[in-house]
Amino acid sequence: MSQSVENKIHELRETLRQHNHNYYVNDAPTISDFEFDMLLKELEGLESANPEFYDKNSPTQRVGGDVTKNFETVVHNNRMYSLDNSYSLEDLLDWEKRIQKIIEAPIEYTCELKYDGASINLTYEKGELVKAVTRGDGFQGDDVTANVKTIRSLPLKLKNEFVDSFEIRGEIILPLEGFNKMNKQRADAGEEVYANPRNTASGSLKLQDSAEVAKRPLDCLLYQVVSNSTKYNSHAQLLQKAKDSGFKVPDTIRIAKSISEVFDFVNEWDEKRHDLPYETDGVVIKVNSISQQEELGYTSKAPRWAIAYKFKTEQQSTLLNEITYQVGRTGAITPVANLEPVQLGGTTVRRASLHNADQIEKLDIRVGDTVLVEKGGEIIPKIVGVALEKRPNNSSKTEYAKNCPECNTELIRKEGDAKHYCPNEFGCPTQITGRIQHFISRKTMDIEGLGGETVDLLRKNGLVKNYADLYDLKKEMLLPLDRMAEKSAQNIIEGIEKSKKIPFEKVLFALGIRFVGETVAKKLARHFKNIDALLASSIDELIAVDEIGERIADSIVAFANDNITTSIIERLKENGVQLELSEAVLENQTDKLKGKIFVVSGVFHQVSRNELKKLIEDNGGKVSSSISKKTSFVVAGENMGPSKLEKATNLEVPILNEDEFLALI
Ligand code: AMP
Ligand code: ZN
Repeated sequence: MSQSVENKIHELRETLRQHNHNYYVNDAPTISDFEFDMLLKELEGLESANPEFYDKNSPTQRVGGDVTKNFETVVHNNRMYSLDNSYSLEDLLDWEKRIQKIIEAPIEYTCELKYDGASINLTYEKGELVKAVTRGDGFQGDDVTANVKTIRSLPLKLKNEFVDSFEIRGEIILPLEGFNKMNKQRADAGEEVYANPRNTASGSLKLQDSAEVAKRPLDCLLYQVVSNSTKYNSHAQLLQKAKDSGFKVPDTIRIAKSISEVFDFVNEWDEKRHDLPYETDGVVIKVNSISQQEELGYTSKAPRWAIAYKFKTEQQSTLLNEITYQVGRTGAITPVANLEPVQLGGTTVRRASLHNADQIEKLDIRVGDTVLVEKGGEIIPKIVGVALEKRPNNSSKTEYAKNCPECNTELIRKEGDAKHYCPNEFGCPTQITGRIQHFISRKTMDIEGLGGETVDLLRKNGLVKNYADLYDLKKEMLLPLDRMAEKSAQNIIEGIEKSKKIPFEKVLFALGIRFVGETVAKKLARHFKNIDALLASSIDELIAVDEIGERIADSIVAFANDNITTSIIERLKENGVQLELSEAVLENQTDKLKGKIFVVSGVFHQVSRNELKKLIEDNGGKVSSSISKKTSFVVAGENMGPSKLEKATNLEVPILNEDEFLALI
């Protein structure tokens, strides 16, 4: 019996792996998403009923769930060098001359695109991923394995091993389509949008919650195999083998017999790159022969056998007609340059971000100036310079806006802040809509039926000025609105009613107190237990809470001292919104584990791993991802990782099994 369950689990894992590969690497799925989900559910069911067959690299592990507080630093086995840059055919010919002094035989080159993301070093042993480490300073980086495992196109188990153990390097990128989708969702939720795919990709690797990473449409493109094997003698061959084993190696790689052929590739892609689904900022040229590579070796910074060619960033000069100011959902002001339309990178550019007052000051940008506009990694173009010689005689220095363009309130700029803010949180139209949108979004009060546009409609019709007003809405008030059907009105009212059950920690996040994000809200809710205690606390009391800093404390105190906010909170309370932890939660909370730091490893039977972590936190303990001298206990389930076991034993950290832990609380 058990043998057949085990076989079934292995079979499902293999099948799912193949479908993952078809979908995410080959872009050619052979089953529907629904069928895939059904297979995955089946596997999840079997795995949770038969935890003895746990596998950290099972396709079910892609959804993440591990939370890492501090990423462990790992020294690279092989240094991750940087690349020298070149900008012209001449530079490339110079490079060729330099290497021809060392190598006499003919040299063959490979040309690859330079993928613009975050570099990663992956270690595979016996065909399975064991570690993923960021480049860091080239000598050592951060262990981000839990996060990287969520990237669907990256094989956790290889189809066929081509060498026993090896490292492979690649770039973690965020394709443009996924990036734009993420930004649209953020904009809809009233959050600030991300500036560019590259920073968002590298930021994603450092998220503490791998389940969050799993939601991001990251991809991993591989470009180099590091192995001691002497089986293969060219870079292109190694990449082909990697591809055959299931890695995503772009087809754009080409072999060139001369620098002139290299330059053809460069010119071709300088055009075609705009049609790629991801961003590239250049080409990487490598000597193809591994033995020639070894002969050439490295300088103190970069390999001699490779060079990057950087595409020219596109720039155009045009006239700056006007500077306007935009209010963000949180009141942050962004100055915008309104330009004489100009063609840049295949699109017409009319506006460019000026970022903040310092930026304008630094470049001394003035209306009437001829400015240089650049489209780099950013989606929104930026101004990189001013043609002073073309400045009109009568031009005057830019005075930054003093008042909010929407509500005319005087702007403020706090020390240390780059941006000006409109402090009229509850009176400024964009901020009103923005705050309510945040309040109703999925991660906060989750009010179904109410979207951004409807909120704007409600505001324009004078029905809501703040989120407490939502609770005064009646169906009859909604019906006269533009395109508001009976059914939608009903849905909105029901959604609002349902939100009264949303637990306190989410409500606290929904309130939109500056710097109080999801995790901070959770911490505060647990510590203060209700809104009154929180708002009555002093800066010192707030800072005394683990992980609450001065910036957050200041912001909470400011919120508490504002008459408008406090009256809004009172109204929420009167309407039955949860402003304290529920009895059920309180009952389960103790201080039994206060001051103790736990590391959890392995598979558990009575509770899931996440439940176990929650139990630790509910009882005042802390969960950490790596074992150190500070660790109080390791809670070990079945199949605890051998390296963790060794570390715990060496550091003499007591190990508890599931029962012992449960007895403790
Ligand atoms: P740089 O950061 O400018 O020194 O360039 C080196 C980085 O380029 C490496 O760390 C890689 O992350 C990245 N890169 C992107 N595409 C490639 C590629 N095809 N081959 C080698 N490196 C690449
Ligand atoms: Zn305003």
